[in-house]
Amino acid sequence: MKVTEHIEKAKGEPLFSFEIIPPVKGRSIQELYDNIGPLMEFNPPFIDVTTSREEYVYIDRDGLLDKKLTRMRPGTLGICASIKHKYDVDTVPHVLCGGFTKEETEYLLVDCHYLGIDNVMALRGDAMKEEKYFAPTNGGHQFASDLVQQIQQLNCGNYLHEVIETDNCSDFCIGVAGYPEKHMEAPSLKSDLKRLKEKIDLGADYVVTQMFFDNKKFFDFVDAARKMGINVPIIPGIKPIAVKRHLQLLPQVFRVDIPEELIEAVEECKDNKAVRQVGIEWCIQQSQELKAAGVPVLHYYSMGKSDNIKAIAREVF
Ligand code: FAD
Repeated sequence: MKVTEHIEKAKGEPLFSFEIIPPVKGRSIQELYDNIGPLMEFNPPFIDVTTSREEYVYIDRDGLLDKKLTRMRPGTLGICASIKHKYDVDTVPHVLCGGFTKEETEYLLVDCHYLGIDNVMALRGDAMKEEKYFAPTNGGHQFASDLVQQIQQLNCGNYLHEVIETDNCSDFCIGVAGYPEKHMEAPSLKSDLKRLKEKIDLGADYVVTQMFFDNKKFFDFVDAARKMGINVPIIPGIKPIAVKRHLQLLPQVFRVDIPEELIEAVEECKDNKAVRQVGIEWCIQQSQELKAAGVPVLHYYSMGKSDNIKAIAREVF
């Protein structure tokens, strides 16, 4: 079922969902199940599975370093299929521009269709670790909006190199990313919102936001988006702080601000166990306020660990 249909069916009651990251290759999928299992009692209608692009690794060959390109966390689609099968829940694979040619994207979408996957999250992806700026893959897309367009075309039977008249077209519901504190490369929040509007106008069905720690940023973002004519569901993405290092890491990687009150509470903690508890309590407050404001879904970035998400969900749902 489509994410938008789940939202309609809930009739204003906020839903619980979360995002997981595939394990590093060589690890067991059981680790994922061990983290997903405890969250199933909160009835997530869908679970997002991230995609990581390729990266360089250096292999030591008798003192000489051999540089190889590899994907450290492959398996997004396989994980989506296995979770869907095991828990009978919808899964949303993240589809990236970076690291994929348009042809590879088409094959991936065809596989999604065969697997009965109804939703995809269309994202540009970040620059490779060694690169300062995002550079499109040869034969790939530059912006998420181009990817949205390709998915929409496929929904109409328009493949890259041929138009196929069929009564078995895909009908993907398309999610895209939004940034309450603006995307790091955007010159302003307004210009970023215009880009978001382009994605919606090209056929995206809903928005999931980057994490934020101050709900006002989300509410202002939704107001501005509505004024600009973005009328699709906007789903807040939130994450509990879990370790002290997040105070530096999250602003650096995701360009998000952390409120002074939260910084002080984390800094006062003696160890990361206490930090985890502060993160849980902050996230419960955020969630309750968002829920009271009538958001359609509360979407949690689990980062592979579910104990804190479970503690939050128990208080909120
Ligand atoms: P876009 O919408 O293409 O925007 C990128 C930048 O380009 C923005 O600054 C925008 O304002 C600008 N822009 C857009 N169109 C144009 C145009 N036509 N001309 C000029 N400028 C333009 N990353 C992963 O690698 N894997 C994941 O699984 C993943 N999941 C995510 C899930 C969510 C909910 C979010 C919020 C982010 C996720 N990301 C993921 C991170 C994301 O890939 C990065 O934030 C990336 O840098 C931007 O992706 P986007 O889809 O927002 O890009």
